[in-house]
Amino acid sequence: TYVIAQPCVDVMDRSCIEECPVDCIYEGGRMLYIQPDECVDCGACEPVCPVEAIYYEDDLPQQWSDYTRVNAEFFTGL
Ligand code: SF4
Repeated sequence: TYVIAQPCVDVMDRSCIEECPVDCIYEGGRMLYIQPDECVDCGACEPVCPVEAIYYEDDLPQQWSDYTRVNAEFFTGL
């Protein structure tokens, strides 16, 4: 799955939402989140993010490795 990381916080540009073919990017209070069970790994969202907040989960920079869990937990309510 693709993951949205810290650079999105308080930015929420939303360009990715327009690109996503399966509409699996959702708005939270301070950032956007990718629903991991709906993401089809197409990669369309990654290059349109103006703050480079989106990464394939295996390519997340170390300091944002928590964001795989952060994105998933937004949808489970944990
Ligand atoms: Fe949507 Fe594709 Fe990005 Fe997944 S990788 S969130 S399916 S645009």
